[in-house]
Amino acid sequence: MQQYTWLTAVLTTHTHEDFLQCLTLHSEKDKPISNIIYTPSNSSYSSALNSYVRNTRFSTPSTPKPRVIVTPLGVSQIQETLYCAQKHRIQVRVRSGGHDYEGLSFVSPEPFVILDMINLRNISIDVENNTAWVQSGATLGELYYWIANKSRTLGFPAGVCQTIGVGGHFSGGGYGTLLRKYGLAADNVLDAHLIDVKGRFLDRKSMGEDLFWAIRGGGGASFGVIVSWKIKLVPVPANVTVFRVRKDLEQNATKILHRWQLVVVKTVFDPTNFFRNEQSIPPLSF
Ligand SMILES: Cc1cc2nc3c(=O)[nH]c(=O)nc-3n(C[C@H](O)[C@H](O)[C@H](O)COP(=O)(O)OP(=O)(O)OC[C@H]3O[C@@H](n4cnc5c(N)ncnc54)[C@H](O)[C@@H]3O)c2cc1C
Repeated sequence: MQQYTWLTAVLTTHTHEDFLQCLTLHSEKDKPISNIIYTPSNSSYSSALNSYVRNTRFSTPSTPKPRVIVTPLGVSQIQETLYCAQKHRIQVRVRSGGHDYEGLSFVSPEPFVILDMINLRNISIDVENNTAWVQSGATLGELYYWIANKSRTLGFPAGVCQTIGVGGHFSGGGYGTLLRKYGLAADNVLDAHLIDVKGRFLDRKSMGEDLFWAIRGGGGASFGVIVSWKIKLVPVPANVTVFRVRKDLEQNATKILHRWQLVVVKTVFDPTNFFRNEQSIPPLSF
């Protein structure tokens, strides 16, 4: 244990400078890293760190802070970051939307670097084939916006909070209002681009079905950095009616919930059947 403490202390004083030097050495000449690096001495460091800390319990003065924040613009800069972090034994935390309940994407007890996907948020929609490629740094809101922008009758089954990042959400499962009909976000992933711990750039074919299965629910950061996802878009009605009925227990809330349970199972497989079978649902008096 004593040896571990000593080692940590040495790493704390040296690694982040070595890490930065390594990144400078290995970065491509036409892609200087100075524009994508934030350190505590940089005036934009705090805003780079806190703008994607979605749980303010992890934003106190005593919360451990990253030595460096790297905001890659492409695959090669992710590979360089992983290489240099391993070489200088500094931990990497991957962050997309920063909604992790435990702050795992931006807090660590060890000296660490945040690999922030904020610049990797490209979304490309293929309406003809009902598919899209979305980079991990995009938010669900951005994804929904661009799908709706291209088609009124396509959607994607994922969460309800629009600021969630695609990277953490898809790799953790992702449930939302279309769950009953179309399953989780992860169920509708067709392919993915991942960089593994050795810096290899893999797609579904080259990573194999086991790893592809694991990153759809097993937590992405356990397996690598997921750069982008190919997703299947699902048919939705062009018009949706949303309404809210507020009832408490004295106003029959229990009966309403009971009736809802009878209704909802009929919307799972075939919504048209629901209307045909509506007669079989016992009437409810308010
Ligand atoms: C306000 C709020 C509302 C929510 N609503 C819903 C909801 O409606 N439905 C639902 O299913 N969930 C919901 N969640 C949970 C949310 O989906 C998860 O917390 C999800 O992991 C957040 O993803 P993120 O990218 O925003 O978070 P991050 O904190 O960036 O990442 C979460 C985890 O994934 C890892 N990770 C992130 N990006 C990558 C990447 N590119 N490659 C590899 N690993 C990566 C991180 O290291 C971390 O371990 C909600 C959470 C909050 C705080």
